Amino acid sequence: MEIIMRYIAFAVGLAMFGTTAQAATEYTGDKVQGMPVISALDVADLPTGQHRFMFEGVETATGQHWYVPLMVAKGAKPGKKVLLQAGVHGDEMNGVRIVQQAMAQLEPAKMKGSVVAVIGPNRSGIERIARTWAIANDGTELVDYNRVHPGKEQGNPPERQAWLMWNKVYKGNVELALDYHTQTSGTAYPLFIYADYRNDEVKTLAELFPADQIKKDPGEPGSMETTFVEHGIPAITVEVGAPRIYQQDMIDRGLQGALNVLTHYQVIDGKIGANAKTEQTYIGNEMSSVRATTGGFAEILVKIGDEVKQGQQVALQRNAFGDVIATYTADRDGKVLAVSTDVIREHRAMLVRILGQNPAQSCQNGC
Ligand SMILES: [Zn+2]
Repeated sequence: MEIIMRYIAFAVGLAMFGTTAQAATEYTGDKVQGMPVISALDVADLPTGQHRFMFEGVETATGQHWYVPLMVAKGAKPGKKVLLQAGVHGDEMNGVRIVQQAMAQLEPAKMKGSVVAVIGPNRSGIERIARTWAIANDGTELVDYNRVHPGKEQGNPPERQAWLMWNKVYKGNVELALDYHTQTSGTAYPLFIYADYRNDEVKTLAELFPADQIKKDPGEPGSMETTFVEHGIPAITVEVGAPRIYQQDMIDRGLQGALNVLTHYQVIDGKIGANAKTEQTYIGNEMSSVRATTGGFAEILVKIGDEVKQGQQVALQRNAFGDVIATYTADRDGKVLAVSTDVIREHRAMLVRILGQNPAQSCQNGC
């Protein structure tokens, strides 16, 4: 039954996103920062070349609009339609520079297919350098924009923004999606990928990146990645290091991954560079987070990428007087996937995340 349902989801996905193009790119007649404003994108009706737009997103509280910057590289010949996106969380920046650099080096006259780039669809979050979308009503409500997909036409602002992005930007224009993130504020990842290994093409995408670690992952309902996969569009979440800053090594490797994907699918010519095989990426199927059991000043005793053994001390917390009030040990063997970079950690805050191997058959493609 599950297989049948997945096939139906896949078939519906193809019908919705793979083959059914938008009627046309719709120009509102406005310009913002010199860019034409559009309310719908159809890459099929654009001429070969590089294009820039402002997409008219959801209405603001006073009835203006949030505008999402879009770049499109339309190739001279038909081929794969690829999405590069960053800024779904507004405090996660390395991907912004990756997407900008990838677009800057594309030569549409030599391309087969097209690349759509989206910078900061979570307009509320990126303006506040924040993970969440802030709904103004009811004294402000903070919503994770990566849990509301594919959105609702008549929903609250982040839900409606998601609906507009799915129905007016992605639909018909995306056959593969790379969604760039980082760890959230106060924490850090290496170059790390969430990938649904039940889908062979997702595995291929993930392993085209020279990542440090990959998690075989069944997905997160309402996330960009999982919603694409559910609609038959291979997608991965690429976690590029730490939030809020540009890290050159991370940007270089995240860009290499995007170029490898475009090369593999023959959108561009070239050679596949560093990837999971050449970098001997660590691929795990289960992760766990060591979380604070009190509030306090944390010291993390391990580094990202360290191998740890179950029972090994990985962190401690002190009170304001300097006394150790809690010590923390690894709950499994594995590699350190993420650490807290903020010293102050509240109750339940993540201190250390460990990626490991669960040998159970049910975890083969991720638990
Ligand atoms: Zn994120």
